[in-house]
Amino acid sequence: SINSGSGGRAAVLIVMDRSATPAQVDGVVRAAERMGLKAHPITGEQRTAVGLTGNRGAIEPAAFENLPGVLEVIKVSHPYKLVSREFHPDDSIVSIGGVPVGGTRLAVIAGPCAVESLDQTVTIAREVKARGAHLLRGGAYKPRTSTYSFQGLGEEGLKILAAAREETGLPVVTEALDTSSIDVVAKYADGLQIGARNMQNFELLKAAGRIGKPVLLKRGMSATLEEFLLAAEYVLAEGNPNVVLCERGVRTFSDFTRNTLDLAVVPAVERLSHLPIVTDPSHGTGRRHKVAPMSLASIAAGADGVAVEVHHRPEEALSDGPQALTPEMFSDLMARLAPIAAAVGRSL
Ligand code: PEP
Ligand code: MN
Repeated sequence: SINSGSGGRAAVLIVMDRSATPAQVDGVVRAAERMGLKAHPITGEQRTAVGLTGNRGAIEPAAFENLPGVLEVIKVSHPYKLVSREFHPDDSIVSIGGVPVGGTRLAVIAGPCAVESLDQTVTIAREVKARGAHLLRGGAYKPRTSTYSFQGLGEEGLKILAAAREETGLPVVTEALDTSSIDVVAKYADGLQIGARNMQNFELLKAAGRIGKPVLLKRGMSATLEEFLLAAEYVLAEGNPNVVLCERGVRTFSDFTRNTLDLAVVPAVERLSHLPIVTDPSHGTGRRHKVAPMSLASIAAGADGVAVEVHHRPEEALSDGPQALTPEMFSDLMARLAPIAAAVGRSL
């Protein structure tokens, strides 16, 4: 039988023969379900596989090996299963409101840190749209270090984001801060952001998985790569495969930036997981003059896009003004990104 070395529950991957029929794939799914397992059919370019999770003990490979259409039964060695490349060799492309993240086209997510007013958000949305952004960001519910800082406009902010989408056509990514507001956020958002401080809010991750909207999952500020991927696994395990990872900097001794953007996590994720990964050089540096260089470096390192904060009057921003790009700086960034994208076989 197949056991995980750590004594935990090993998941297995049933790899189907190239010529397996849909009925044979269905036969594997039904056999798994009869055993009380959860089956996750994964359609690849070459062949179909069926990932099995939910086992309390070991899964007996013989129960599957002899089913028609089965090529082999593989043990998945990582503690995360559904997010792992073993389960899903091809890159995943996650659509956020029709904008693909992953694949050859890069995704540029831009907008204010916080939604402050209709005028502010629509102004910034128009500016970033005109300069080539694909998705609009902006928080209506803000996780602030100080209770005395601007906490966000709540549902009013979501309505403003919807108006900005209406105006520009940009799909909206915005943060869901807790399980009590996630439903209202999902009503307006195209993509649900789960913030760094909530990366291990497991109830929130499960709720996002159940809602089924695409999730932009930010890395916790002291999370290891394994913890990051295990957090994503919570969303996928609820049946929502649409997760985009976001590296936004971690805490280190280095104090000349707000956080240390851990760029090496980009190729590390690419090796271990099929999920797309973008970086957030705004929170990753905290300083506007460092945002463009680290955005360029992110794309060169293989990131699937960047998320950057933009404000038309950064000195008046209610949050994160020092890291906000002006619209002109955002233009300059887009112009400089194009040749880097081309150099790594991507486009904007
Ligand atoms: C944000 O993107 O608005 C934000 C709060 O980021 P983080 O959760 O990465 O701090
Ligand atoms: Mn911010």
